[in-house]
Amino acid sequence: MSIAENITKVRKQIREAAQAFSREPAKIHLLAVSKTKPASAIREAYACQITDFGENYLQEALTKQQELNDLKLTWHFIGPIQSNKTKLVAENFTWVHSVDRLKIAERLSSQRPEYLPDLNICLQVNISNEDSKSGCAPEQLVELARQVSQLPRLKLRGLMAIPAPCDDYAEQQHNFAQVRQLLEQIIIELNLPLDTLSMGMTHDLQAAVAQGSTWLRIGTAIFGERQYNN
Ligand SMILES: *Cc1c(COP(=O)(O)O)cnc(C)c1O
Repeated sequence: MSIAENITKVRKQIREAAQAFSREPAKIHLLAVSKTKPASAIREAYACQITDFGENYLQEALTKQQELNDLKLTWHFIGPIQSNKTKLVAENFTWVHSVDRLKIAERLSSQRPEYLPDLNICLQVNISNEDSKSGCAPEQLVELARQVSQLPRLKLRGLMAIPAPCDDYAEQQHNFAQVRQLLEQIIIELNLPLDTLSMGMTHDLQAAVAQGSTWLRIGTAIFGERQYNN
């Protein structure tokens, strides 16, 4: 299937999930995860009115941004961030979904150029994924949110999670429900206007919509399988 056909199919899945769970379709955004895929694939998606792209690897992303600088795209950084790479992330992205510690947020804050709008931030929380080194522990999340929300040049928007892959729909829902509850807790305890849940990938899109996802990060269902597993 072509990328255009894939996008039609994904949009239909999102529409149907929105309807099934009484979600407002306008609040469910599609982030096309283009890691490992060439600039030409992004052009195909853009031709279908996809404007938001997620990348995990900084150098790969910067190369594609150069190749595509004739298009008006919004770039989201969704991969692990090393502290020596924060400057390039702060300069070249509109969103960062994968902030999981204060040091990274402080660096992004001080390195975000004055001429750009505030950098949109999601805090990555480690739900269910014991093996993953990425993500803030749920117990430490409120304190991290409090500190990040006070940093200039950043706009804290909400939470991101990558639960351990699982095929069980009830378990998927359970994991995403925890993320949603953490967001609600932060909103209440810190009185912050957070509006973002970045959750749901190709294999668990429906459960994520059911639990309030506002950014679905979809790679495989749009661009096909990746050559290597990441
Ligand atoms: C690769 C990746 C995705 C997309 O995963 P698919 O299963 O291909 O849809 C989403 N989010 C993150 C953080 C990723 O690294």
